[in-house]
Amino acid sequence: MITPKDLIYYAKKRGLNAVAVTDHDYLDGAVKIAREVKDFLVIPGMEVSSSDGHIVALNIQESVSQGLAAVETVERIHKAGGVAIACHPYVYFKGCLRNAVCNAFDAIEVINARAFPFQHSVKKAKEAAEKFKLAQVAGTDAHYGPQIGYSYTTIDTEELTVEAITNAIRQGHCQAHGQQVPIILNIQQQIQRLKRLTHKTASKLS
Ligand SMILES: [Zn+2]
Repeated sequence: MITPKDLIYYAKKRGLNAVAVTDHDYLDGAVKIAREVKDFLVIPGMEVSSSDGHIVALNIQESVSQGLAAVETVERIHKAGGVAIACHPYVYFKGCLRNAVCNAFDAIEVINARAFPFQHSVKKAKEAAEKFKLAQVAGTDAHYGPQIGYSYTTIDTEELTVEAITNAIRQGHCQAHGQQVPIILNIQQQIQRLKRLTHKTASKLS
């Protein structure tokens, strides 16, 4: 539901220096936006639906198939040159990895701003990060422009490039920050989604 224009507008407004675009099981849109946007850094990637749960792949050169086991998905992400992140591993209502989190991953999303239940999933993900010695990142998982930036990752790097950022994550030179998206924005998102669905159905019928 986020247009490229909204993406950049809200990312800048929230004070971010870069933003990752990771559509579900689809890479081309993110690559296109990353190529076309000239005045802001977009990190292309995708969110792969493995058979064990969702996995974020950043900076991959080719699409990774869905439906494979977590470890095989991570291997394919690495082969495609990317970074593999165990995203929202302990939330309800999203495909989460739970027991499939392991040290094959480069990083774990310890804060997901749209996670439910929020505190519990942050605590569990931080424990897993310690246990498996994984780099810690945060993301908003925004599906609606105004949600962007409630959680964010600081990256220790000299350069603001996709390569420098993904290398820093590989080396664990990053920290997770942020908070939960206010519930009102999640309600607004659902209203927007329903409006779009009704609009689409109306166009089909006419
Ligand atoms: Zn997901």
